[in-house]
Amino acid sequence: MANKVELIKQEKDGLDVYPDLLRYSQTGFETITPEDMTRLRWYGIYEQQPKIGHFMMRVKIPGGDISSKQWRVLAEIARDYGNNLADITTRQNIQFHWLTVEMLPAIIEKMNSVGLTTVGACGDITRNIAGCPVAGIDPDEIYDCREIINDISDYFQGNKEFSDLPRKYKITIGGCQHQCHQPQINDVGITAVRRRKGSVWETGFHICVGGGLSTQPHLASQLDIFVLPEKLPEICRAITEIFRDDGYRARRNHARLKFLVADWGADRFREELISRLGWTPERALPTAPVAQNAHSDHIGLHPQRQPGLHWIGVSVIGGRVSGDQMLAAASVAKKYCQGVLRTTNQQNLLFPNIATEDLADAQNAIRAAGFEWEVSRFRRASVACTGTEFCNLAITETKGRLREIIEHLEQNLVWNDDLRINVNGCPNSCGQHHVGDIGLQGCLARVGDEKVEAYDICLGGRLGGNAKFTRAIERKVPATKVKFALENLLRAYQQTGLDGEKFSEFVDRHSDGELGEFLGLHLIADTDPDFVAPPPRCVPASVE
Ligand code: SF4
Repeated sequence: MANKVELIKQEKDGLDVYPDLLRYSQTGFETITPEDMTRLRWYGIYEQQPKIGHFMMRVKIPGGDISSKQWRVLAEIARDYGNNLADITTRQNIQFHWLTVEMLPAIIEKMNSVGLTTVGACGDITRNIAGCPVAGIDPDEIYDCREIINDISDYFQGNKEFSDLPRKYKITIGGCQHQCHQPQINDVGITAVRRRKGSVWETGFHICVGGGLSTQPHLASQLDIFVLPEKLPEICRAITEIFRDDGYRARRNHARLKFLVADWGADRFREELISRLGWTPERALPTAPVAQNAHSDHIGLHPQRQPGLHWIGVSVIGGRVSGDQMLAAASVAKKYCQGVLRTTNQQNLLFPNIATEDLADAQNAIRAAGFEWEVSRFRRASVACTGTEFCNLAITETKGRLREIIEHLEQNLVWNDDLRINVNGCPNSCGQHHVGDIGLQGCLARVGDEKVEAYDICLGGRLGGNAKFTRAIERKVPATKVKFALENLLRAYQQTGLDGEKFSEFVDRHSDGELGEFLGLHLIADTDPDFVAPPPRCVPASVE
C-alpha cells in the first residue's frame, strides 16, 4: 500500500501547487489543506514550528555561486520579511524563517526577478546541486564544474518528468582535489579525475551513488565508470530515471536511493545504467588516492588561480546571518569581488576575486559587516542544523548550543588541530553529525524529575580516503554539560596524544570505553550535585 505522501503526489504533482499558493495568500493560512501543505515543499516552503502560521523558505544556489545582485535581493527578503535573519545550509542554500503565506507570492516574484528559485529546494525532487565553493578560482582545481552544475540544474528545474521521485534526491558535482563537495554522502556524487590514457592525460568524472546520512547513514558506492564532461547530463538523467522507476516507495524512511543501491550492489546498478544509456561508459582507471582532506574549510585569505586575485573565506557559526550583514556583504561583493559571493557546505561564506591592491579595504569592509576569517579551529568548519528554533522534528536547540560550545573551548584551550563539531537537533543528521570529528545528536535525558535537552556524543566521523561514520561514545549527556565533556576529551588528546597524531587518529586509536573515560562525565557529576552521570555505555578497555 502506498504511503500518504505517495497518494498526495498521485492526486496532484507538487509542482502544480503554485496557483493554490496564490489563492492561499488571499484566503489565509487556515485555509491551506494538509495535502497542499505537503506540496508546498516543492516550492521550498515548509511550515516552521510552532505550527501557527509561519513558514521556512529555502532558496537554491547551485554550487553556492551567487551574484551580489541576487544576494542583495535575498538580504532584502531577510530584512523586510524574515525577521532580519537567514541561514546558510549544508547544501549551500539560503533559508528564511518567519514568513507568512500572504508574503510568499511577493517574495517568490522578487527572487524570480533576479533568476533565483525555490522550486525543488524541498520535496521529492532533485534538490540544489552542490559543488566546490572555490570552483574556477582554486589554483589546484582539476575541472571547473560551474557550467556543468548550471546545465544539469537547468535540466531538472521544474521538469515534470522528475518531479515525483520516491524521496529527496541530492546530486553533488566537484572538480577540486579535496573532494570537499562530499560525494560520499550524496545520492549521486560526481567527481573530476585526471587519468593517463596512453601518452595523454585526460579529465573526466567518476560517479558514485547511494550515499546519504539521516538515521541510517550509507557511504556511496563507486560505479567504476569514467565519463567525459559532455556525457554527464545524460548520465544524471539515466541515474535519476532508475531512482524514479525502481526506487522504493512503500515506506518514506526506506525510499532514498541508498537503499536501492545497497540491495542491488554497484554492479547491478551499473548494468541498469548501461541499459538505459544504450552505450557503455569506460571503466574507471586507477587515479590518485581519494583526498584525505575532504573537509577543506576554505576559511581565510587564499591566492586564486588568477594572478593578483584572492578569496577570503569567513566563518559563520551555524550559518546564521542577519539581513543587515547580508546587505553589507552584497556591497562588499559588488565593490571588491567582481559581483560574486559563494556559500559553502560548512555554512560559511566566501568573498572571491579581491585584487591585491583592494585587499586592505576589502578586509576592513568585510570586518565592518561582522564577518571574520582569522578564527579558531573550533569555528572554521563546525556546523549546526536548524534545531528547535524552527524545525518541527527537532528535540534540541542547536545553533546557540554550538556557539556556546565553541566559545567555551576557545576560552579554555589553545588548539591548532583541525576539528569539526557537527550539532544535530535530532537523529536526522541535517547537521551531518555522522561525519564530524565530534558529532552531537540531540535527545532528551532525565535529570531528577525533569526531562532536559541532551546530546549523544559521537566521535570519529570523516569523509575522504578513510571515510567512516561517528561512533556513539556517551548517550544522553545533558546539553549544558557537553562543553565540559568536550573540554575534558580535547585536554586528554593534548596530554596523551602521540607525537604528530591528529585528533581523528587519536579517536581511532582508542576504544569507546577509553574515549568515554576521557569525556569525564563522572568528574562533571562530582562537581555538580544536580547532574547524575549516565552509566558508561561500554566497559573502559583499561579495566577489562
Ligand atoms: Fe530538524 Fe533534525 Fe534536521 Fe536538525 S537534524 S534540522 S532537528 S530534522
